[in-house]
Amino acid sequence: MTRQKELDRLHKEITECEKCPLYISRKNPVPGEGSVTAKLMFVGEAPGAREDETGRPFVGRSGDFLTTLISGIGLSRSEVFITSVLKSRPPKNRTPTRSEIEACRPYLERQIEIINPQIIVLLGGVAVSSIIGPWKMAEAHGKFYKVDKCTYFITYHPAAALRFPTFKDVVKADFEILKQELR
Ligand code: SF4
Repeated sequence: MTRQKELDRLHKEITECEKCPLYISRKNPVPGEGSVTAKLMFVGEAPGAREDETGRPFVGRSGDFLTTLISGIGLSRSEVFITSVLKSRPPKNRTPTRSEIEACRPYLERQIEIINPQIIVLLGGVAVSSIIGPWKMAEAHGKFYKVDKCTYFITYHPAAALRFPTFKDVVKADFEILKQELR
């Protein structure tokens, strides 16, 4: 089976998933989108209202900011892969629970396995703590971490950067570091 077929099959599985109660309130599951051969994978927290309506990741205001950051490093959305820890929206955008994260984690692990990206960019504290453990964002951002066979890069979630203007410059500076690494 080709990697694309494997990814399509996994995403079909996600669209039918009822492994945690979030399937009841979601309008659409949001498996993620982008290239199956992407060198860069971006992982956010969970779908928000716009993502839930459209079934696409990062399409709201923070998505626009992420798209700008991605073009700033010389890539387009179709050349990377964008997803989140949870594939269904928590009601009122509340923080994902531990059990929701555990239920959904295998999907992200399989996406990582199929795509095998060079760098996985963790966007915000929930992505970081769900995947590589609890780190202090203020100390951890802007750096690369090798954990098992994967290389991770940590930065703040674009939504946080939009809420707090000081984070915006920090995120932009982090993406410059990422750009240098990709050269
Ligand atoms: S959040 Fe994940 S585990 Fe929960 S229903 Fe959605 S796809 Fe399934």
